[in-house]
Amino acid sequence: MRESGFNEDNPFDAMVARFDVAAKKLKLDEGLYQVLVTPDREIGVAVPVQMDDGSLRVFKGYRVQHNLARGPAKGGLRYSPDVTLDEIRALAAWMTWKCAVVNIPFGGGKGGIVCDPARLSQGELERITRRYTASLIDVLGPERDVMAPDVNTDERVMAWVMDTYSMHVRHTVTGVVTGKPLDLGGSVGRHGATGRGCKIVTDRAISRFNMSRENTKVIIQGFGNVGSMAARDFYESGYSVVGISDVSSGLYNPSGIDVARLLEHCREAKTVAGFAGADPIDGKDLLEQRCDVLVPAATENQITSRNADLIKAKIVCEGANGPTTPMADQVLFDKKIFIIPDILANAGGVTVSYFEWVQDRMGYFWNARTVNERLEEIMTNGFDTVAAYADQHQVNMRIAAYMLAIDRVAFTTRERGIYA
Ligand code: NAD
Repeated sequence: MRESGFNEDNPFDAMVARFDVAAKKLKLDEGLYQVLVTPDREIGVAVPVQMDDGSLRVFKGYRVQHNLARGPAKGGLRYSPDVTLDEIRALAAWMTWKCAVVNIPFGGGKGGIVCDPARLSQGELERITRRYTASLIDVLGPERDVMAPDVNTDERVMAWVMDTYSMHVRHTVTGVVTGKPLDLGGSVGRHGATGRGCKIVTDRAISRFNMSRENTKVIIQGFGNVGSMAARDFYESGYSVVGISDVSSGLYNPSGIDVARLLEHCREAKTVAGFAGADPIDGKDLLEQRCDVLVPAATENQITSRNADLIKAKIVCEGANGPTTPMADQVLFDKKIFIIPDILANAGGVTVSYFEWVQDRMGYFWNARTVNERLEEIMTNGFDTVAAYADQHQVNMRIAAYMLAIDRVAFTTRERGIYA
């Protein structure tokens, strides 16, 4: 284990803090504790790339496979100048727990490259992606480790990973990634799945509190894949979306933002800034506005001990991974704010990734109705199971989700036994 003390802003510490509470409640023995908390495999690779100007640069890349007891590693690939190994470790572990919470047959993985895609050309991005994939070729594959898009990566990046892998193994292997373009073996419904899942679990939460969609005001932080698709679904389902932000700006309109028009605006402007249908607001201030549902859908550590007491939402639906620190958890719980934890709330993406992987392996593709009905069923069951577990064990939703997940992975580990 890591030797340094607890650091609120370190995502792996945040994961372990929740894991510890859940493991204690489950009375997990020390040996199994070590097996489940320790990442199975951590790989760091140098990614040397020829830049457009002819110079050579070396980027740092990581892939962590946290636990493979229940199936191949599954998890996104992130491009950001802020990527660290501890962040990727945490994200890989969260994938293990997330897949277990919604009971799909994957372990957890995550990858990242320390780079700023905004400062790279298409050609440079492609060469970085392909070289990184080639370096990891032995640990990837539909039965080993299946990547998906995450922050700053998209279906085009997945197409490059799929093609590079396929060239190395000498035949087309669509199931090595999910979140790829439809005509390369992608699944309908994958792009909007994480946001849709956030909306489905929020539906369950508001019905628990006898709230109606029409009277529920939603604020969303982040307008990328998760945030924009969640905003669209909340809006189309009759919720009032009163606030939205991206990295450069925030928008606030207490009478509701026309999300369809905002999506149009963003297609051109590539940012929410400058949208005429709402007032501009500082992104930090937006989090603190009064609302019923707050959906952090940007990045980690947005609700911390520094601002948790200013949050005025009734429900926090964690679209992002790790947006709330353990210290902030305590403040929100004391304020009786209902948290739908990340490993449940944003599991819609990996659920439809699972559908994509299944369809690739069958070579038979489903229609949108089938995908969305099955997603709805899995997310609804996930929410209801975690809520029942929370009631049964008298714990909050976060700890219940961890307990359920750890219990499932521990069960599989015991059944398989430890290979010697
Ligand atoms: P993305 O790159 O598509 O979008 C990120 C968005 O967040 C952008 O709009 C960016 O401008 C905004 N942003 C960044 N920092 C911000 C800040 N400080 N304040 C306000 N906005 C900010 O990424 P994504 O795929 O939407 O992922 C967002 C989060 O959801 C990440 O934590 C990711 O791990 C998690 N997640 C993504 C998926 C998926 O299917 N894409 C699935 C599960 C979880």
